[in-house]
Amino acid sequence: MTKGNINVSVENIFPLIKKFLYSDHEIFLRELISNATDATLKLKHLTNIGETKVEYGHPKIEIKIDKEGKKLHIIDQGLGMTAEEVEKYINQIAFSGAEEFLDKYKDSAKDSGIIGHFGLGFYSAFMVAKKVEIITKSYKDAPAAHWTCDGSPEFSLETADKTDRGTEIILHIADDSTEFLEDSRIRELLLKYNKFMPIPIKFGTKEINDPEFTPKTITDKDGKETKEEHKKITVDDIINNPNPAWTKQPADLEDKDYKDFYHELYPMQFEEPLFNIHLNVDYPFNLTGILYFPKMGQDMNIQKDKIQLYQNQVYVTDNVEGIVPEFLTMLRGVIDSPDIPLNVSRSYLQADGAVKKISSYITRKVADKLKSLFNNNREEFEAKWNDIKIVIEYGMLSEDKFFEKSDDFALYPTVDGKYYTYEELFNKIKANQTDKDGKLIILYTSDKEAQHSYIEAAKSKNYEVLLLDSPIVSHLIQKLESTKENISFARVDGDHIDNLIKKEENTISKLDEAQQKTLEDLLKEIIPSEKFMVQLEAMDSAANPFIITQPEFMRRMKEMQATGGGGINMFGSMPEMYNLIVNTNSDLVSEILATKAKKKQERLITQSLDLARLSQGLLKGEELTNFIKRSYEMIK
Ligand code: ADP
Ligand code: MG
Repeated sequence: MTKGNINVSVENIFPLIKKFLYSDHEIFLRELISNATDATLKLKHLTNIGETKVEYGHPKIEIKIDKEGKKLHIIDQGLGMTAEEVEKYINQIAFSGAEEFLDKYKDSAKDSGIIGHFGLGFYSAFMVAKKVEIITKSYKDAPAAHWTCDGSPEFSLETADKTDRGTEIILHIADDSTEFLEDSRIRELLLKYNKFMPIPIKFGTKEINDPEFTPKTITDKDGKETKEEHKKITVDDIINNPNPAWTKQPADLEDKDYKDFYHELYPMQFEEPLFNIHLNVDYPFNLTGILYFPKMGQDMNIQKDKIQLYQNQVYVTDNVEGIVPEFLTMLRGVIDSPDIPLNVSRSYLQADGAVKKISSYITRKVADKLKSLFNNNREEFEAKWNDIKIVIEYGMLSEDKFFEKSDDFALYPTVDGKYYTYEELFNKIKANQTDKDGKLIILYTSDKEAQHSYIEAAKSKNYEVLLLDSPIVSHLIQKLESTKENISFARVDGDHIDNLIKKEENTISKLDEAQQKTLEDLLKEIIPSEKFMVQLEAMDSAANPFIITQPEFMRRMKEMQATGGGGINMFGSMPEMYNLIVNTNSDLVSEILATKAKKKQERLITQSLDLARLSQGLLKGEELTNFIKRSYEMIK
């Protein structure tokens, strides 16, 4: 047997890093600015704890394009490096100075916001540069150093004459990467990745109105007033906001601050968010952020890439799948956590313990916020319900933990504009809407206009009718029926109201058995049996003579299938079947039976059937035309 070491030398790792370390070349700028930020934050920390007497001042980071020289400069005023440190931190690939610093200053530096930790970021510069220079002067009393490397494992290191503290990285942009010499491209990257980083980042200058200057109003000889032109001054163009709202304490923020930050995040969004949730934990994981509920309405296909993920104020991605529970990806805002492992597959991410905890923390926070909004200002919460219900209902369906908590804030609106919690609804209707088998029947409509006559029928019995019109309501109903005890939902047009909530009292039929048989035969001749199941019912004589209904079960299955889930194809391809309920106690039915003239009898039945179809919106095309023609003839 032979044993040996696999030989990994810099020669063969270097091209690998260049090629495969990051699939996205553009992130080199994020990495270099992160290093510049770290260098500045480290210096800040050292001055804070009194390790050095140097003046921290107001350091910034500057990005400069030298188009002619095909160079990009990243300049910081951080702690810099001595020649020995360059040897140590730069020449050793995958040795992270950031980790070393955090190790050394363990407790005090925990919250310093230092970004780096793999020790690979710097080399991403070679993805876009054919040569990289570092000119750096340490805060310590040591000569400046100048390191140069053209992407081969060879480098040169010499002294330099830089006198001010800090580091300048110079990228000689490669021929295939000249896009990074364009102003607009660099600005785009800065705004994408660095918009909220903690150290001010300067990119060129801009003209602004001089705040010291107040324009005078000049009145000319005709009495016409003109305003003097505002004096302009040139200032650094700072592209970032180093103190974004999410890094502050909720107590220090007002409603307006949250709204302003929302518009800072989404400059193209003109609508105000409905409310926000400020996330803030540091144990057992570190996470801050602000989530916003936008106005959502009925749309399930709302854009889901609106939440941005940051790590220590550095933008990482807008794909938060796996970190935020699915139903909350409809929200907007930011999440900042250094504890989310990156560069790993999504499936790994979902299995990660810390990430699972984060996801359930967010769910809990959202539920708590909803509960407190409901408790503190119910009226306002009710007013917003229609715009947020999609998220809540979707959450109730997909997250059991959220479902358990939802009884505290989920609302059930009625057609009369009242909003009940489940418990309130239960107490309100249990006496009147419990059927003879002791089951509580919750009536609802999906469309107030289309199901108007059925709603009226229910109201005449003093029943409450809920207005449940979101696209996933059939799924939600199913879920409620299976978790709450002994309840059943029934859409008002599912059957005659007396059949929806069956009570003991049986109305006696005016027709004897022989008459019923005659009526049935008569109806069978005229009514197409492949479309309607005829059902004779002895109902209140004031109820409509003919009523068309669709069985709750079948309709709901079809709906559930249309909105996904279920996985059953059978119902989709099933022909539309309806119940036709004929009220044997109605005067019209008596008249149909009593009529001797065959033609007239036929016409009465057809007309009644058409009226029933009309009230369900089922009368269309040629049949509708015939109906109208026939009706005119009848009123002549
Ligand atoms: P990481 O940031 O993960 O530690 P990098 O490869 O990005 O790894 O950087 C390696 C090290 O080089 C840093 O940890 C730091 O010690 C040093 N370094 C890089 N850029 C600078 C800079 N602008 N100023 C001071 N030190 C720097
Ligand atoms: Mg780094």
